[in-house]
Amino acid sequence: MGTHRLYYDDAYLQNFEARVLSCAPAEPVKGASGMQPAWEVLLDETAFYPSSGGQPNDLGLLGEAVVLDVRDEGEEIVHIVDRELAKGGVKGCVNWPRRFDHMQQHTGQHLLSAMFQERFGLPTVSFHLGEEICTIDLHGGELSRDQLIGAQRAANKVIFEDRLIGVRYGTREQLAGLGARKEVEREGLLRAIEIEGADLQPCGGTHVKSTGQIGMILVRGCNKVRQEWRGEVVCGRRAEQVATEDFERERVLMKSLGCALGELPAAMERLAAERDANFKSLRAALQQLATVWGSQLASSAPVGANGVRVVSMLLQGTHTELLQPLATEIAKNERTVALLISEESGQLVFAQHPGAGKDLGALLKSVLAAHAGKGGGNRDFVRAKLAEHGSSVAALELAKSLAAA
Ligand SMILES: [Zn+2]
Repeated sequence: MGTHRLYYDDAYLQNFEARVLSCAPAEPVKGASGMQPAWEVLLDETAFYPSSGGQPNDLGLLGEAVVLDVRDEGEEIVHIVDRELAKGGVKGCVNWPRRFDHMQQHTGQHLLSAMFQERFGLPTVSFHLGEEICTIDLHGGELSRDQLIGAQRAANKVIFEDRLIGVRYGTREQLAGLGARKEVEREGLLRAIEIEGADLQPCGGTHVKSTGQIGMILVRGCNKVRQEWRGEVVCGRRAEQVATEDFERERVLMKSLGCALGELPAAMERLAAERDANFKSLRAALQQLATVWGSQLASSAPVGANGVRVVSMLLQGTHTELLQPLATEIAKNERTVALLISEESGQLVFAQHPGAGKDLGALLKSVLAAHAGKGGGNRDFVRAKLAEHGSSVAALELAKSLAAA
């Protein structure tokens, strides 16, 4: 005969009394400390909402038992609990903050979806009520910032007017005749939620009783998911929370940048421009240093028996951006090889004047075979990064002996 759903008639019912019709062991469920034993309970009637239509299930207590999950199984609602319950009377208590949050998000979605449809002809194809954020998938072209803000503003206007929200019953045809927003496949008597003068939509979920209780709707973002545009939305207490968290982050930024809230974007832009300019001048200074130091190092390196000069150096406390220009400058000198490794980062650059006649690609291969790392290049120029910067000294010694051979 099925479970009588008390939440259909009163979404505000938190405490209720019912009869346990059956209680049987269920598959273990995932709890806070691993898998835990569970029982499935059928009641004659319940105020617990099962996961359905994008709205997650309620939690709470049945007698002493903790409700871990609530499932919609056709005509029946199955309560998954953490201990066995005796047949007979039991008191149920719905975790109200969780449920009311769901009611705020869910009703907010009805209203916002109605505004997207009415204002911009964008139908909602699906809805998901997540732990932190709710998503609405809209079908149609790309959503503009103006459309997002426009729908948000129109929905909040209806919230400020605190319009009544009620339940209507009717057949599919009757509801369609009344302008129901979404067609449903189901036959028979349907339940629909009406937001006075704004929306009528078939739905079996739980909703607040007037738009004022949605509190506030904030559209947080929008991105393309497959063929649809997915809007991220928060309502009610969640909107308060994200706005508070946003301001907390802004406060930290204002403090560290020493500016007022309205000046943040300009201050960030200035900072990025300064960073880019500093980097540019650093590169120029490193190039100048490389030019002077490179020719000095090359000219002071002894010429080997084979007529090749090898400059090998472990760079300590120098910017890694110096490696490449310095190696390149050294290799501009006749028959000279540069082997440079940064001790701190394990980054290395080897370069040679083509007249030196070595194969640095092969040389790097041998070095990386002995000391793990990643990199590559050609005969005259290679760069790599050693996996362990501690192997810099040994890697340099090996490279030096290979280059002298
Ligand atoms: Zn609904």
